[in-house]
Amino acid sequence: MLAGHQIIAGRGEPGSGPVFRAVNPADAATLAPDYASATPTQVDAACNAARDAFPNFGNTAPDQRASLLEAVAAEIEAVGEALIERAMDETGLPEARLQGERGRTTGQLRMFAELLRQGDAFKPVVDAALPDRQPAPRPHLVRLNRPLGPVAVFGAANFPLAFSVAGGDSASALAAGCPLVVKAHPGHPGTSEIVGRAIARAVEACGLPGGVFSLLFDDGHAVGGALVQHPAIKAVGFTGSRRGGLALSALATARPEPIPFHAEMGSINPVFFLPAALSARPQGHAEAVAASMQMGAGQFCTQPGLLVAIEGSALDAFAASLAATVEQAVCQTMLTPGIFQAYQQAVERRSSTPGVMLLARAGAPGQPNRCRPCLFAVDAGTFLADASLAEEIFGASSLLVRCRDADQMRDVARSLEGQLTATLQLENADESLARDLMPVLEGVAGRVLCNGYPTGVEVCAAMMHGGPYPATTDGRTTSVGTAAMQRWLRPVCYQGLPDFLRPEAEG
Ligand code: NAP
Repeated sequence: MLAGHQIIAGRGEPGSGPVFRAVNPADAATLAPDYASATPTQVDAACNAARDAFPNFGNTAPDQRASLLEAVAAEIEAVGEALIERAMDETGLPEARLQGERGRTTGQLRMFAELLRQGDAFKPVVDAALPDRQPAPRPHLVRLNRPLGPVAVFGAANFPLAFSVAGGDSASALAAGCPLVVKAHPGHPGTSEIVGRAIARAVEACGLPGGVFSLLFDDGHAVGGALVQHPAIKAVGFTGSRRGGLALSALATARPEPIPFHAEMGSINPVFFLPAALSARPQGHAEAVAASMQMGAGQFCTQPGLLVAIEGSALDAFAASLAATVEQAVCQTMLTPGIFQAYQQAVERRSSTPGVMLLARAGAPGQPNRCRPCLFAVDAGTFLADASLAEEIFGASSLLVRCRDADQMRDVARSLEGQLTATLQLENADESLARDLMPVLEGVAGRVLCNGYPTGVEVCAAMMHGGPYPATTDGRTTSVGTAAMQRWLRPVCYQGLPDFLRPEAEG
C-alpha cells in the first residue's frame, strides 16, 4: 500500500505542500495516492539528519557499506512484481524493459558491493618516512579517499529504477560513504516510494542511522532548489534537462560554500557513416540505426540524434531504407505528458526550420502521449550555419546531415559541442578519414564507439558515461560504472601522524 509520504531519516511523514498525483501516460488517468510536497521544514530535517549520520556512515568499513548495498538489492527484489506493475502504470514502459531495468539496478548495487569488498577502492597510497634523507628528511605520508558528505540525488524520468531512487548516483554515493537525500522524480512517485521504503528497511536492518537515507517529493522546483542550497548537502547528482541542470547548477555554485554539481543533461550522440562502411551495407545500417533511435521511444540519453554521411548513391539507399522503416515504426508511449509535449513542440519547430526536410514520420497512433518517430534531413552547410539543429530532441527523432565530401564531414565533427558518445561506422578502407576524425571525436565525447550504436550502456569498470559540457556539467567523471564512486570522494593526505592516529588500517 502506498502512503504518499516523504521518508525522512527512515520514517514516513506526510507532506503538507502542494499536492500532486502520478499520471498514467498510456491513458492519461491519474493514479492514487496523493503526494503532498515536502515542506521547507522537512527538507531541513532530511538534510540535517544526513549531516548527523555522516560521522558514523562516512567512517563505516567498506565491508559494512557493501552489506548495506546488498541488503538494498535484496529488499528491492523482495518487493516482487508490485514494483514493476506500479512502474508500468507510471511510465508507460513495458514489463520486460522494467524487469531488465530492475536487474540492472540490483546488479549495480551488487557491483559496488563487490568493489568495496575487493578493498582496492579505499586502499591508502603510502610514502614511508625517510628520516635520513638529505638535505631534509621526508615525513610519513598517506593519501586516502574520504567521502564528501551528504549527497542530494535527483531521480531521472527515463530510468525509473536504474537512474532513480536506488539508481547509479545513489548506489555510488552510498558506496562512497555519503548519506543520501533523494528528490523523487514527480513522474513516478509511487515507484520512488516503493524503492525508498526498501532502502529505509535495509538501512535499519544494517543497524545504520536513519539519516543515511531520506526521500522527498515535489512536483515543483521548491524542494529541489532548497536541497541544492542546504548547507548540509556537499554534492549533487542530477539527470534531466539542460534547463533544469543549469538552473540547479547555478544555485550550487552561488552558495556561500559552492559544491560539486554533477548534471547529465543531454546529447545528440552523432554517428558518422564513413564511405566504405555505408557502401558495403546501406540497408543493414538503416535497420540498425532505426532500432537504436526508436528504442524506448528514443528516451535515452544515448539516442543517436545525428547521422552524418557523404552524398552519393549509398547515402540515397540508406536514407530511403531508414525513412521506410521510420514510417512503419510503432508509436510507443512516452514517459510523461510533459516529455511528450516537449517532443511534439521540438518536432514541429524542426519541421519548420528553413532547409530542413521531414523525410519520414510514423503514422498518428490515436492514443495519448505516443511518440511518432521522425527522420529529418539537412545539407551540411545549413547544419553548420544553424546551431539550433544541434539541439537534442528528447524522443525518437534523428537528423541526417548530408555532407558534400569528406572535408565537410570533418567540419561537421569539429562543430560539435560536448557529447556523451560519438560513433564511427567504418571499414578498413575508411582508415584515413577515421584517423582524422578520431582526435576530434575524443575531444568532444566521453565514449567513442566503432561499428556499434550508442544505446545500451555497459555497467562496468571501463565505462565512461559523461562528457564535456553541455552533455554534463563536469566531463571528468562518469555516472555509470564503478568509476562513478570517485565523484563523491576527495583525497586527504595525512602527514607525519603518530601510529595511533594513522588511518591506513581503516582502508
Ligand atoms: P527536468 O525538467 O530537468 O527535471 C528533472 C528533475 O529536476 C525533476 O525532479 C525536476 O523537478 C527538477 N528540476 C528541474 N528544473 C528545476 C529547477 N529549476 N529547480 C529545481 N528543480 C528542478 O527533466 P525531466 O522532467 O526528467 O525531463 C524533461 C527533459 O529532460 C526531457 O525532455 C529531456 O530533454 C531531458 N532529459 C534528459 C535525460 C538525459 O539522459 N540526459 C534524461 C531525462 C530527461 P520538477 O519536475 O518537479 O520540476
